[in-house]
Amino acid sequence: MRLLLLAPPGAGKGTQGERLAARFGVRHIAAGDQLRAEARAGTPLGRQIAGFQERGDLVPDQIVLDMLIPVVVEAAAHGGYILDGFPRTLPQATAAAELGARLDVTLDATVYLHAPETVLTQRLLARAAQEGRTDDTADVIRHRFQVFAETTGPLIAYYRGRGILVEVDADQPPDSVTAGIESALSHGETPRIRSG
Ligand code: ADP
Repeated sequence: MRLLLLAPPGAGKGTQGERLAARFGVRHIAAGDQLRAEARAGTPLGRQIAGFQERGDLVPDQIVLDMLIPVVVEAAAHGGYILDGFPRTLPQATAAAELGARLDVTLDATVYLHAPETVLTQRLLARAAQEGRTDDTADVIRHRFQVFAETTGPLIAYYRGRGILVEVDADQPPDSVTAGIESALSHGETPRIRSG
């Protein structure tokens, strides 16, 4: 199974990504987590990454590609992946598609998780109280939504055009969202998907 989760901040990519990876026995590749790990390591590259993340700006494509492509190649050789937060710009999507062609693999589906911005903002502010992520402040959250709309939004049309987009309502409890994803995948909304 090879899936991409495309979603605005707070929609539950991380939670659903973990569950889907366990369900299909493939690797969960969370771009934000990989980048945060590098930032925490405090290397010069990590310090650069931390700056972008704290401001709610995207990390430049080349940095992301250099970090994520080897991980995707490795996972592709071991049964697949749930991509969570990568690609999230058109240049990243193009590079990922070229890589796929080279490896002779294609995405089975792109799952677009959507919910009203007010709901997502409340979730992120609640999470801030628990996890203390430096980008979960009201101002930075607002900026992340803007970046999502401007830079990641075009990927919705890109994957719809490729005939692999499925849309799932993320304004429901986590179990219902998981069920919604599994049902969207198994109902053959994307022709390439078969059970398992
Ligand atoms: P969210 O989707 O809730 O913003 P993530 O953990 O997925 O949370 O991403 C957090 C931050 O990590 C982003 O605001 C951005 O700075 C960086 N990031 C994650 N994935 C990418 C990516 N594919 N390209 C560029 N930056 C990214």
